[in-house]
Amino acid sequence: MGRVYNFSAGPAVLPEEVLKEAAEEMLDYQGTGMSVMEMSHRSKAFDGIIKDAEKDIRELMNIPDNYKVLFLQGGASQQFSAVPMNLMKNKKAAYIVTGQWAKKAYQEAQRYGEAVAVASSADKTFSYIPDCSDLDIPEDADYVYICENNTIYGTKYKTLPNTKGHTLVADVSSCFLSEPIDVTRYGVIYGGVQKNIGPAGVVIAIIREDLISDDVLEGTPTMLKWKTQADADSLYNTPPCYGIYICGKVFKWIKKMGGLEAMKALNEKKAKILYDYLDESKLFKGTVVPKDRSLMNVPFVTGDDELDKKFVAEAKAAGFENLKGHRTVGGMRASIYNAMPIEGVEKLVEFMKKFEAENA
Ligand SMILES: *Cc1c(COP(=O)(O)O)cnc(C)c1O
Repeated sequence: MGRVYNFSAGPAVLPEEVLKEAAEEMLDYQGTGMSVMEMSHRSKAFDGIIKDAEKDIRELMNIPDNYKVLFLQGGASQQFSAVPMNLMKNKKAAYIVTGQWAKKAYQEAQRYGEAVAVASSADKTFSYIPDCSDLDIPEDADYVYICENNTIYGTKYKTLPNTKGHTLVADVSSCFLSEPIDVTRYGVIYGGVQKNIGPAGVVIAIIREDLISDDVLEGTPTMLKWKTQADADSLYNTPPCYGIYICGKVFKWIKKMGGLEAMKALNEKKAKILYDYLDESKLFKGTVVPKDRSLMNVPFVTGDDELDKKFVAEAKAAGFENLKGHRTVGGMRASIYNAMPIEGVEKLVEFMKKFEAENA
């Protein structure tokens, strides 16, 4: 069997070119006679890998010099704790709750201080992004927290919230490198790479330098203090070496594809194919308010659980994998990250049209 079209929300599809290159270098990375999995993280070869990776992501995202780029472990979920531990000087923070990941971060922050939910879209099953132009943000809040692209519900902020001068912290796990962003608008940008960049096990955090200090909550583990990793250039302890190596290859692939402007254009084109069909279909319906639709995660339903199941099963048999919606929302979800080729989306829509005709 060849490769399928993999619509998994994460860990997710990676560029085939990158996988082939990694396969070629598996036994002997550039004449070292060993795999990247086998080499010291203090070796010259790995030093080149991590420095190159940092240089390339800085170039892609146009990251200013006063931001650190950290390669961490522990998943995006560990940053749910690290964020309050490093930033809650006043023990207060504002959270915008737009889905499960934002909610988990909000709940975790409550363990460390006063986390205030200043907006939420829970009233309509997180199918939209609340108006964040004039929120009631406590004056002494240390930061405002968002999950920028909601992987499970398929919503995305099209404009960032008005933080009223407060530091913005964003979990960008599922929209990392999907389009250009203005890094200077954020204090902290972080994400697990297994959605749109690389293999599970790496978290990339881009943090403004003034937010990195020894002034963290009492009891903060050494490993969760950002300064520990910032001072050591992400090499305080053994980093997820192989994962960082693959991320580096994906950065180079994106550069070759034309960078984030080109990625955005391609992602918009792919998403439009699917959303246009969902808008005209009599069988399938998108679940998100059109203005807040994600380019990355596209949830949809037929409105009939049995038919949803039938669709997922028949799609799988036809080579379209992982279309089942998140266990908490049901229905279907197509994640169409950077590495999903446009043919994958076109063929999926063809298949959906056929299914619609057969099940009218
Ligand atoms: C997947 C995901 C997470 C959780 O990531 P882990 O690496 O499994 O901890 C957090 N936030 C968002 C937006 C996600 O998509």
